[in-house]
Amino acid sequence: MSKRDYYDVLDVAKGASAEDIKKAYRRKAKELHPDRNSDNPNAENQFKEANEAYEVLKNAEKKAAYDRYGHAAFEGGMGGGQRPGAGGQGDFASAFSDVFDDLFGDFMGGQRGGRQRAARGSDLRYNLRVTLEESFGGIQKTIQVPSSVQCGACNGTGAEGGSEPVTCPTCSGMGKVRAQQGFFTVERTCPTCSGLGQIIKNPCKSCAGSGRIQKERALSVNIPAGVETGTRIRLGGEGEAGARGGPSGDLYIFIEVQQHEIFERDGSDLYCRVPVSMAAAALGGDIEVPTIDGGRSRVRIPGGSQSGRQMRLRGKGMPALRGAGTGDMFIEMAVETPVNLTSRQKELLREFEALSEDNNPETKSFFSSVKGFWDSMKG
Ligand SMILES: [Zn+2]
Ligand SMILES: [Zn+2]
Repeated sequence: MSKRDYYDVLDVAKGASAEDIKKAYRRKAKELHPDRNSDNPNAENQFKEANEAYEVLKNAEKKAAYDRYGHAAFEGGMGGGQRPGAGGQGDFASAFSDVFDDLFGDFMGGQRGGRQRAARGSDLRYNLRVTLEESFGGIQKTIQVPSSVQCGACNGTGAEGGSEPVTCPTCSGMGKVRAQQGFFTVERTCPTCSGLGQIIKNPCKSCAGSGRIQKERALSVNIPAGVETGTRIRLGGEGEAGARGGPSGDLYIFIEVQQHEIFERDGSDLYCRVPVSMAAAALGGDIEVPTIDGGRSRVRIPGGSQSGRQMRLRGKGMPALRGAGTGDMFIEMAVETPVNLTSRQKELLREFEALSEDNNPETKSFFSSVKGFWDSMKG
């Protein structure tokens, strides 16, 4: 894949001044900030690309070389830490810190030099299934959240049995190495120690040298009444612990409400399909229907009810999430044709049918329309 022109990447004209390039880069950096681009999978690479372009164009010497030779000036792997896809979130996040240090560091009272940046912990997502009844009443749930804690076996050093991490021989503890690339000497993260400046000769077996182990921790979560599938509950600071004393990430609980055997939900309304015998539908009468609170309601069926007839029970639906009222429950009648008839029942039904005249107005009207249709086809 050919590399994009650095000026195109930053969306700036070829003859642009250093000030304009800085402005263009600042605009890009804001535009591609991870907080705004959670749904843009390309943002990370675009950001890295912009970062790489700016690394070159902000530097007068590199810029001159690029203007003259193009990307060929840096063949051999310019910008080791910024190869697209080279690293995970960590790389991206630290690259970001660098940008803002670079752009705003001047205004921050010169805190830049050698300051260790405390990294914020990752956000966690937890998928929680609840029943419709639990959504109706709200519920307190205890969940097990994975979190990383200091490894007890090595006291967090990552080194086995009393041994200490030693200074990295490659970079002498600097965390960075210099390399000759093209015309320039560039600084890159030390490949031996990944920039930590120390290496562990005998990694701790419990934590594989990371100094941290995963532990589950119980967390009590209040699920409010009315949650739906897709409802997201944010618990600030309950995500992964930050590194080097940085702030913790957040925990997001994604709710999934299970299908219910009897009730179907549409927002805060509930639907319940109730089978009614043919005779009951014809004669009318009271039936008893279940409600989501575990109770029952009596519903009067008018005589001559048809299949699909709906009856509304006001206020018997689900509570709306933020206390904005309660939905309704709809009963939908499904008239059931009797099966497994005895000969006596058949006899009665035949007798009934013989006596029927104006009992099926819909049937009558349908067949009269059909007759009209056939007649019109003949004419
Ligand atoms: Zn090193
Ligand atoms: Zn350990």
